[in-house]
Amino acid sequence: MLKPIRCFTCGSLVAEKYSEFDKLVKAGGDPNEVMNSMKINRYCCRRMLLSNVNIIDHVLPFYEYLAQRRAEFESDTL
Ligand SMILES: [Zn+2]
Repeated sequence: MLKPIRCFTCGSLVAEKYSEFDKLVKAGGDPNEVMNSMKINRYCCRRMLLSNVNIIDHVLPFYEYLAQRRAEFESDTL
């Protein structure tokens, strides 16, 4: 959902590498080779980049709808 800041296992910073990794993979790079070129060698950190799914754009409309419904409910009760 949100980018993890640190690796859950070893505590190494991974958030600073995620943008470049995502850009290179979306440009058609092989994730394994991209991580090798970025010197991400530990498999725990590699997991953090590979397994992250960015779904914030899909979840955000539900929160907006919830805020809208809450505002409607509060205006009805007053
Ligand atoms: Zn790690």
